[in-house]
Amino acid sequence: MDLGLKNRDLLRQAAPVGGRWIEADGGGIEVTNPATGEALGFVPNLGAAETTQAIDAAQVAQKAWAARTAKDRSTVLRRWFDLMMANQDDLGRILTAEQGKPLAEAKGEVTYGASFIEWFAEEARRAYGEITPGHAPDKRILSVKQPIGVVAAITPWNFPNAMIARKAAPAFAAGCAMVLKPSELTPFSAIAMAILAEEAGLPSGLFSVITGDAATIGKVMTDSPSVRKLTFTGSTGVGAKLYAQCAPTIKKLGLELGGNAPFIVFDDADLDAAVEGAVIAKFRNNGQTCVCANRIYVQAGVYDAFAQKLATKVATLPTGNGFDEGIVFGPMINTAAIAKVSDHIADATAKGATVTLGGKTHEMGGTFFEPTILTGVSEDMAVATEETFGPVAPLFKFETEAEVVNAANDTEFGLASYFYSTNHARVWRVSEGLDYGMVGVNTGLISTAEAPFGGVKASGLGREGSRHGLDDFMEIKYICMGGI
Ligand code: ADP
Repeated sequence: MDLGLKNRDLLRQAAPVGGRWIEADGGGIEVTNPATGEALGFVPNLGAAETTQAIDAAQVAQKAWAARTAKDRSTVLRRWFDLMMANQDDLGRILTAEQGKPLAEAKGEVTYGASFIEWFAEEARRAYGEITPGHAPDKRILSVKQPIGVVAAITPWNFPNAMIARKAAPAFAAGCAMVLKPSELTPFSAIAMAILAEEAGLPSGLFSVITGDAATIGKVMTDSPSVRKLTFTGSTGVGAKLYAQCAPTIKKLGLELGGNAPFIVFDDADLDAAVEGAVIAKFRNNGQTCVCANRIYVQAGVYDAFAQKLATKVATLPTGNGFDEGIVFGPMINTAAIAKVSDHIADATAKGATVTLGGKTHEMGGTFFEPTILTGVSEDMAVATEETFGPVAPLFKFETEAEVVNAANDTEFGLASYFYSTNHARVWRVSEGLDYGMVGVNTGLISTAEAPFGGVKASGLGREGSRHGLDDFMEIKYICMGGI
């Protein structure tokens, strides 16, 4: 398939490992386009030996990188940002081809990913320490921040560019090295980013991309005492497993796991704004994001009006191949994703829910699914407790604020939450009452490089983005200066 790339080398069938490129040579792991099933190419099938080589090279490269000035590291990151933006169209095309999302959305993701590189290029120079008044007349207390060392990263397919940028940028800004295992479904975006990082001047061996069997690579990463941090974005099940694997070597952990986001519409909300927010929060990337609204709670007084407005709006949004103009809904990532969505709809309708829009595989076939709205949804249905990760909007009816805050919090997850209200006292009460790492008030879009992204409970550990995102890749060293 001709992707229409200006720089065809960006779709490279090779992976950078410890400073050298390993070719797929026509073998390895095949990557396909989820919209058509067409083959895009191969990436090498790497394993334990290459992961170890990458970690060893990272250890050497990291020391030299950390010894450079923060400004120096910042300059390299800034060049990487510039190259990402200069190649935005090509990166977007590669992303759409391997992931499926509409090209405009893919290019938006490249901008979003690059914004973390820009942000952390700036933050690199602000890793301030502190001097605390001493506990004895002849002593002074200093705290300095130092890079944690070699970092292993494991990333998912839903944001093949941004999930990497969000981890790599703060790691490199802090002075760390990174060995990355991208999703086997979307490795070409990761490889293209590594090509541009190399061109930007990131030193050899500092950034490796290991494509191959996830469990094998993950085990070497977690077992290695040289790897001092694991940063993972993916499912809670795999996250918990990796958490356990990291225990013997006591690694620092960054975990961005599953969510089950509530989206609450109160009687006093601006309904049109709430519909617009729900479309973004629910249907972006076809519902395949960890911050997607999973449960939509609508207060009784506006339930019918909201349901109707939402259905009217969603019905106008076109489904198709992400490369076609104006498409809003691309394909789902694979047939397993379709099966989960279908199961959730079947379970809900069997228990009394009504399908008011969509509800089945799209007439285009393959992995295309109709955007779906369910009304009359109740807490005993799978959509109430499980992450659907697809274009299904289940609408729950509620009566009181206390009832809905309780229902919203009644989950093991705690990543994103959203609500719409124009009552400022309620805005404070509900914001403080939601057990979530993030709350969107009168907005369905909260992710940005300037803000701390992350969850509580089974949704994870640590924060990405903001100034706190840099701290997650650094250790605090306390220096006690005596004899003064
Ligand atoms: P998703 O549902 O988003 O695919 P996963 O948690 O399965 O979530 O995958 C996220 C990332 O974790 C992917 O890169 C995948 O290859 C990787 N992964 C899956 N299982 C393991 C494992 N046992 N060890 C290490 N990485 C894994």
